Amino acid sequence: MNGFDYVEPASLGEALEAVARDGDDAIVMAGGTAVVLLLKQDLIRPARVLALRRLDALRGIASDGTLRIGALETHAALARSRAVHEHAPALAATFASVATVRIREQATVGGNLAHADPAQDPPVTLLALDAVIVVASSARGERRIPIAELFVDLFETSLEPDELVLRVEIPPLPDGARATYKKFLPRSADDYATVSVAAVLARDASGRCTHARIALGAAGPVPLRARDAERSLEGHVVDDSAIHQAGALAAAETDPIEDLRGGADYKRAMAAVWTERALREVAQG
Ligand SMILES: Cc1cc2nc3c(=O)[nH]c(=O)nc-3n(C[C@H](O)[C@H](O)[C@H](O)COP(=O)(O)OP(=O)(O)OC[C@H]3O[C@@H](n4cnc5c(N)ncnc54)[C@H](O)[C@@H]3O)c2cc1C
Repeated sequence: MNGFDYVEPASLGEALEAVARDGDDAIVMAGGTAVVLLLKQDLIRPARVLALRRLDALRGIASDGTLRIGALETHAALARSRAVHEHAPALAATFASVATVRIREQATVGGNLAHADPAQDPPVTLLALDAVIVVASSARGERRIPIAELFVDLFETSLEPDELVLRVEIPPLPDGARATYKKFLPRSADDYATVSVAAVLARDASGRCTHARIALGAAGPVPLRARDAERSLEGHVVDDSAIHQAGALAAAETDPIEDLRGGADYKRAMAAVWTERALREVAQG
């Protein structure tokens, strides 16, 4: 590993100034599960590592209907959190499905979002829940990024170089909505998804769909919303044939990357299968 200075800013203001001042010379580190691998593999050679661990302003899990999660909260803490469970059990299950307990205890939600690996789990459910990512810079203060606008390309986000993720805000689900997260893991239980799907569905008294969200992971260069599939459900009764059609539409919206977890055609076929399974689950009851 190349040598670097290790700095722990004591306040958010100090951290934001350091990020703005150091630019490409520095890398921000939260849990370090991605950064340390990049350093060890010599894929990055920063002069400085800016560790966020002392920044209590980036911690906290609270809800007043909107769930607010500090960027430094770990996947393990979020999987255990009563507030997360009460907001959406599917969200707690998503955090619990990340890697292994060792990774979950260390890796943070802010680091996960900024890393922007399309095979990660939390972005998929956060997309289906219409999360907003609150970021800040020393020059421009806070701004809010709807999560659908965060992921630009493979490992690339719309974060500016001088911005830090502060927190994630998740609005209340529509009345009566049900949500689920499905992670297809044909190789081992602690693997990244071959494909993953989050679905949210709400219906009126007549059984017609009033709100549909379908998001997929490991199905393209970014975590994506299957908007054609969502539109095919809204205003309609969600029966077997509607679910089958939505699965086919969702698969057509993917752009999978072939890797050791499967070829593009296989992942596309699995996107249809797992979208149908997710929709069947949220359409029950
Ligand atoms: C063995 C292994 C298995 C894994 N399996 C899974 C899996 O199954 N599912 C899954 O979803 N993920 C998986 N991951 C990925 C893991 O979830 C991410 O590495 C982790 O969430 C990143 O969080 P971190 O706090 O460790 O980030 P770091 O490594 O500290 O940082 C990651 C990136 O985010 C930036 N960053 C961190 N915090 C902020 C912030 N607040 N503002 C701006 N930029 C920031 C850093 O500069 C860096 O670019 C796995 C990782 C490993 C090592």
